[in-house]
Amino acid sequence: MSKTIWVVAQRGESGISRTTKEILGKAKELAGGGTVAGVYCGASKDSVAEGLQAAGASQVVLMVDPKLETYLAETYTSAIGALARDRKPDVILIPGTLNGKELAASLAASLDGGAVQDCTHLDWDGDVLVGTRAFFGGNLTATVENRSSGPKIFSVKPKAFPVPADSAGAGGEVEEVAPQLPAALRTTVVEFLADEGKTVNLIDANVIVSGGRGLGAPEGFEIVNELAAVLGGAVGASRAVVDAGWIPYAHQVGQTGKTVKPKLYIACGISGAIQHLAGMRTSDNIVAINKDENAPIFKVAHYGLVGDVFAIVPELTKKFKEALQG
Ligand SMILES: Cc1cc2nc3c(=O)[nH]c(=O)nc-3n(C[C@H](O)[C@H](O)[C@H](O)COP(=O)(O)OP(=O)(O)OC[C@H]3O[C@@H](n4cnc5c(N)ncnc54)[C@H](O)[C@@H]3O)c2cc1C
Repeated sequence: MSKTIWVVAQRGESGISRTTKEILGKAKELAGGGTVAGVYCGASKDSVAEGLQAAGASQVVLMVDPKLETYLAETYTSAIGALARDRKPDVILIPGTLNGKELAASLAASLDGGAVQDCTHLDWDGDVLVGTRAFFGGNLTATVENRSSGPKIFSVKPKAFPVPADSAGAGGEVEEVAPQLPAALRTTVVEFLADEGKTVNLIDANVIVSGGRGLGAPEGFEIVNELAAVLGGAVGASRAVVDAGWIPYAHQVGQTGKTVKPKLYIACGISGAIQHLAGMRTSDNIVAINKDENAPIFKVAHYGLVGDVFAIVPELTKKFKEALQG
């Protein structure tokens, strides 16, 4: 069963994004010897083709135009949609970022296809590609068949699949195609405003120290920041403290925040509501610190510390500092 699978490429901080690579690796497996095409839209091509080939693309299609510098649903849907109408791929896989999910829905509408969002697994059931995704805050998992007549579109959650081994030198055809763009745009990006001084990269962090309402006040985050700094990790948060304005939304972990899978997740003063667990329960090692021994977070924790965060977290910081910095 040989198929043509497209992977819509997104850029990361350096080259193509980690999620794009993860999806390319899976696409190669799903294609069964068929074509895996990395499809890229942007204002410059830099080393995109090499990055896509190294992650397993057997074909690369570059659509380069100044109007594609910034992601816009209408330009990206127009460019990728026109190409898909012409070439009829079997499957289109898209990184499940905010932009990616919007693009998946928009492309599905444009191509008379169906979009299955936020997949954590993909597999063939006979000739039908089936996506696995979470429902009800991660309490239920459903397998969703995509039986649409157009291309089967799936957005895939970051970290659902491992990054494939670098297959640099694998070669493959690189093609530049003039993108078909709308004559007039209904949307214009005027300016980007950063919502805070420093970038919060929770998705790629190996260590995340998260704080919840148990920190008592915004100042309570100082102990979380210190522990994260010593461990070289990122700072996460529950929605309760984001809603309270203690910390920006970019830090939120959970159903309506980010889904993370670090090697180590330390939850400080977080109760463990299902919506929070939905975003972190698959972390490799979970350490929970909570003064309530019956807090639900302990049900998913590999290590539980019952007690006051203000006593335990500074002590952990001190011990880690001694151990790590000598
Ligand atoms: C549609 C929807 C979507 C949602 N999405 C998200 C989401 O994405 N992410 C998310 O996190 N939540 C989300 N929520 C909210 C979620 O239901 C909880 O309200 C929230 O996670 C609670 O945050 P918390 O654990 O910080 O606060 P609380 O539930 O108030 O828990 C605080 C914890 O701190 C402990 N504590 C208090 N003082 C101390 C101390 N000194 N030392 C140690 N422990 C202490 C307490 O025992 C308690 O367990 C969502 C809710 C809804 C309805």
